[in-house]
Amino acid sequence: MVKYRITLFEGDGIGPEITKEMKRIFDSLGLDIEYDEFLIGERAYKKYGELIPKDAIESIKKNKVALKAPVTTPVGEGFRSVNVELRLLFDLYVNLRPISTISNKVSKYKDVDLIIFRENTEDLYTGIEEETHDGYYAKKIITKEKSKRIINFAFDYMVKHNRHKITCVHKANILKKTDGLFLSIFNDIKNNYKMIESNDKIIDNMCMQLVLNPNDFDSIVAPNLYGDILSDLAAGLVGGLGLAPSANLGDEIAIFEAVHGSAPDIEGKGIANPTAFFLSGALMLEYLSESEKALRLKNAIKEVLEEGKVLTKDLGGFASTTAFTDEVISKL
Ligand code: ATP
Repeated sequence: MVKYRITLFEGDGIGPEITKEMKRIFDSLGLDIEYDEFLIGERAYKKYGELIPKDAIESIKKNKVALKAPVTTPVGEGFRSVNVELRLLFDLYVNLRPISTISNKVSKYKDVDLIIFRENTEDLYTGIEEETHDGYYAKKIITKEKSKRIINFAFDYMVKHNRHKITCVHKANILKKTDGLFLSIFNDIKNNYKMIESNDKIIDNMCMQLVLNPNDFDSIVAPNLYGDILSDLAAGLVGGLGLAPSANLGDEIAIFEAVHGSAPDIEGKGIANPTAFFLSGALMLEYLSESEKALRLKNAIKEVLEEGKVLTKDLGGFASTTAFTDEVISKL
């Protein structure tokens, strides 16, 4: 019997190119792993008329762990984002985004080490937009229960991982009820974690502070939309979207994926940076208690980036996705 069976989605755009390389990495790490592979997203829609076929859903339910390359949601009326749909289907309420400087060579800022806890199931992502006499309005939903569980998760995670300071990000000065609720729940819960320093910042100020002094921050908890925007901003601090991994976590099910999208503009060119996906794989290994293998992978990536000889185009190099992977494998 194999040790791990996971659900794997090779996705759209650059997805298949980086998935192929991820499998080579897992093989080189000597992982005893098997994949249940399914199409979701645009290619699934073209082939089966469904963005997320039922078999894929059943497989996630059974395996409880999935690794997902980026997918494309077709543009147009009636298509709900595949990513949002998966998060809601499995109630994956935490979007965990660790953003750290892997190598000072490719990062604009030295020694950044941030974790962003983004609420993953409500806020403006409910996608409810309605017509008014002169346009539309969008519904932003913030509830007590969902705010409590993400904020509690963030504090518990920090205790477990020995982190010291958390910043709650909001716009409660304008959105007094919705963001006001999120902030007041944060202020209640922080009293249970006196060993952790806590503060809060308004989203616009937070963007400026992060760009000016990213090293002043440790962990960030935020409602869905601010968490989304801040994580792309933070990815930019450490070298761009090609380096940012994420985990979508529920109480029983976890889906790991890169922060970036399917990058259709570079599809098939063999130049995609697979690092964010590899780091998402490392996050998955940590989740599966394969911390030693996760660390080997992260160290190998760090060594390649430090040497700076074999880099993909987004990091200023000329290496293909495969050549970069070969180099990582040589350091494992
Ligand atoms: P989505 O809506 O799915 O986020 P998007 O086109 O807005 O899609 P991305 O697909 O993340 O966003 O792409 C943003 C830009 O970053 C594109 O120019 C893309 O080529 C580049 N990019 C994204 N991921 C990578 C990667 N892994 N390697 C190299 N470039 C990338």
